[in-house]
Amino acid sequence: MNHPETYRGRRVVVLGLARSGVSVAKVFHSLGADVIVNDKKERELCPEADELTALGISVLCGYHPEDLVTKETALLVKNPGIPYTADPVRRAEELCVEVVTEVEVAYWLSPAPIIGITGSNGKTTTTTWIGELLKAAGLHPIVAGNIGTPLCEAAVAASENNWIVAELSSFQLKGTAAFRPRVGMLLNVVETHLDYHGGMEDYIASKAKLFANQTAEDVAVLNWDDPICREAAAAAAARVLPFSLYESLEKGVCIEPPFVRGESDSDGASAAARNIVWRREDGSETVIVPVGELGIPGRHNAANALAAIAACLSAGADPNAFVSALRSFRGVEHRLEYAAEVNGVKYYNDSKATNPTATTMSVGSLSAPIVLIAGGLDRGSDYMELLPLFRDRLKGLVALGETRGKLAAVAELAGLANVRLVEPVEDAESTLREAVRQAATLAEPGDIVLLSPACASWDMFESYEQRGRIFKNSAHTL
Ligand code: ADP
Repeated sequence: MNHPETYRGRRVVVLGLARSGVSVAKVFHSLGADVIVNDKKERELCPEADELTALGISVLCGYHPEDLVTKETALLVKNPGIPYTADPVRRAEELCVEVVTEVEVAYWLSPAPIIGITGSNGKTTTTTWIGELLKAAGLHPIVAGNIGTPLCEAAVAASENNWIVAELSSFQLKGTAAFRPRVGMLLNVVETHLDYHGGMEDYIASKAKLFANQTAEDVAVLNWDDPICREAAAAAAARVLPFSLYESLEKGVCIEPPFVRGESDSDGASAAARNIVWRREDGSETVIVPVGELGIPGRHNAANALAAIAACLSAGADPNAFVSALRSFRGVEHRLEYAAEVNGVKYYNDSKATNPTATTMSVGSLSAPIVLIAGGLDRGSDYMELLPLFRDRLKGLVALGETRGKLAAVAELAGLANVRLVEPVEDAESTLREAVRQAATLAEPGDIVLLSPACASWDMFESYEQRGRIFKNSAHTL
C-alpha cells in the first residue's frame, strides 16, 4: 500500500473535479505532490476550480490535454463516473501509471477503521442508519462516501477513535487496489449500470473488490437471501456475518419467525410478532427488537435494518446502546419519508422512486388505503408492471408529467375508478401543487397520499430532490 506521502514532488493527475476531486487534489497538494487537475467541462461550469487555483494547484478545464498523463506521472486519481475508455485513462494504462479512485486514497490516509457499504439498492438508507446506530452506541462514526462528505475529507478529519461509514458504488470500488474495510457489506445485487460495466460479470467483480483484501480479522456482512451475495461469501477470507429475512440462521442476524417469500406483510405473523435476533457462533442469542418497532416501514427496510445491525455488531457496538436508534430512525429524505398529516390524511414523499419497481416496493410497505401521485419523464419503462398494484392497493391515482396518459391507461385496465390527470399549468411547481390538491380531495381520514412517481423527474424538475421538496411544501400548506 502507498501512503500519499510517497508522492511528494511527483506528478499526480486528478481527473474530474466535483467534491471528491477537490478533496483528493488538496490532500496531495498539502503533501507536496505536483498536482494537476483536469475536467472536460468548460471552466465556467467548474466553480470548484476556484478553491484549487487559489491554493496554487493547476486546473485545466474544457478538454483533456494530450500530454496530461506522461511517463513521469506517478498516479492518476479518476472520478468514479469517468469511464475507463476515456483518453487519459487509456493513456495511463498504456504507460503503466496506477489508476485509482478517491476511495483508495482515503484508505491509504485513514487512521480510522472503515465500514464499506455497497449493493444495488438500499445503500443510502443503510449507511445513514449505521451512522445513527453507532452514534447512539458512542462509537463516533463519520458518514461519508457517495453521500455528503467525500471520503478523503473524512479520512483527513478522522482519528483512531472514529469509524468511517462509507457508502460505496460499484464505480468507486472498481478503482480500488489495496482497499480493505474492517467491515465490508454487500446488501443485494440486481441488474443495473450495465452500460458502464459492460455486463453483470464486471459489475459483480467490482462489488466483490470490497472483500478482496480482507483477512480473518475483518468481517463480511452478506445478504443470505441473495444468491450472488452467498457466492461472495463462499469466496471471502473474512469472517462472514450473514443476515436474512427468510431463513432462521444458525449464526447471523435474522427474524423469528422469518418472513415467508410471496406472503405479504399483512399475512401470517404480523411485524409486531416478529423479532430481530442475533445468533452467535457459541449458540447464544440476543433478541434485538420487534420488526414492528423499527422506525421505518417495509420489508426492504427490515432488510436494511438487519444489515445495519450486523455492521454495528461487527464494529463491537452494544445492541442495548443502539436499540433506541432502530426505533427513532425516520429514514432518509425522499425515500418513503413521512411529510405531514392534514385532516387525518398522512402524506409520504417517495420522490426517489424513479422506476416502477421502486414504487411497487414503497406501496407494498404501507398498509392504509393509498392515493398515489405518480408520473414524470418517459424513459419507455413498462408501466404494466404497476397493474396489480393499481388494482389491489390503490384508492386513487393522480397522474402528472410526460407519462400521465400511460399511467392513466394502466389504471383504466386495472379498473381503478378514482383517476385524475393533471395537465401542465404555468410551471412545474404549480402543476405538482395542483396534483397534491386533487389527491387531497380523493383521500379520507386514515388514508395515505403518496408521491412515488415511478419515473425520473427531469421532464419537469431539476432533480428528484426538488420534486420531493415541492411535494412536502404543498402538503404542509394545503
Ligand atoms: P441506494 O442508495 O442504493 O440508491 P436508497 O437507500 O437511496 O438506495 O433507496 C432507494 C430506493 O430503493 C428506496 O426508495 C426503495 O424503493 C428501494 N430500496 C431501499 N432499500 C432496499 C432494499 N434493501 N432492497 C430493495 N430495494 C430497496
